[in-house]
Amino acid sequence: MMWYQRSDFTLGGSARARLKVRRLCTGYSGFLVIRDLSIDVSPGLTVILGPNGAGKTTLLRALSGQIRWTGEVLLDGNDFPEKPHEIVRAGVALVAEGRQLFPQMTVRENLELGGFLASKADREFRLERVLTDFVKLRQRSSQLAGTMSGGEQQMVAVARAMMAQPRLLMLDEPSLGLAPKMVDELFVIVRRIADSGTTVLMVEQNVKKALAIADRGYVIERGVIQAHGPAALLERSSVIREAYLGSNSTEKTTTAKDAVLRRQSRSKLLHN
Ligand code: ATP
Repeated sequence: MMWYQRSDFTLGGSARARLKVRRLCTGYSGFLVIRDLSIDVSPGLTVILGPNGAGKTTLLRALSGQIRWTGEVLLDGNDFPEKPHEIVRAGVALVAEGRQLFPQMTVRENLELGGFLASKADREFRLERVLTDFVKLRQRSSQLAGTMSGGEQQMVAVARAMMAQPRLLMLDEPSLGLAPKMVDELFVIVRRIADSGTTVLMVEQNVKKALAIADRGYVIERGVIQAHGPAALLERSSVIREAYLGSNSTEKTTTAKDAVLRRQSRSKLLHN
């Protein structure tokens, strides 16, 4: 049995939100991680790729109000809020790395927390929709979240974020640590969420699979954009092929970590 129902998702809005980021600078206590970053997150699915330490998580921390930033960020033409609760109210949800579920609470209780801003009746309505879209969660609704596998918890985390009916859903490396089959199912779900009208911004290290479902992508390294464009073109670009996928198309290397190792060994070759 799959995690998602066969028909289209009922979740998500028809908001088709647009996020415009211009000259964003952010980092930690004087240490600038991201410099003058400009990206457009249009309706659909935008993926941010890059190796460890590139600043991907830092970008999502800034966009969820956890750290301060400078620059210009507009959500549908309006100034992006600064405080976390204002950001949530504006319809932006984040599925953070590590999922952050409440392990001693049931799946249902975790999901209900995702809809805490909604009225009781609306929350019940959304819960029903979530359990229709994520069919397996209905069977698991009384299970304690902490007793679920990593992949199952990731599904709960995404479903919980959808309980807020976000206009913009941000996901931080959702495939991390998941078995390949689970990644495939999760990515089908992410694609469906984007198709249902919720704009999605996903940070990923699984370059090949992420580009396969994305509409467009950005590659960042050390806080700076190295390449961007429609996913299909990006996949064929030299930056992606040489650094992430291997210039030989039969190579199966897909992770950004491998890309860094590849670069290091390449630069070793150059310097020897
Ligand atoms: P990964 O895939 O490893 O999570 P990433 O692209 O998400 O990589 P970030 O987590 O954004 O990278 O980290 C970018 C840089 O910021 C790194 O040099 C990291 O050491 C630094 N950094 C991250 N969190 C903090 C923090 N709380 N305080 C200080 N520096 C931090």
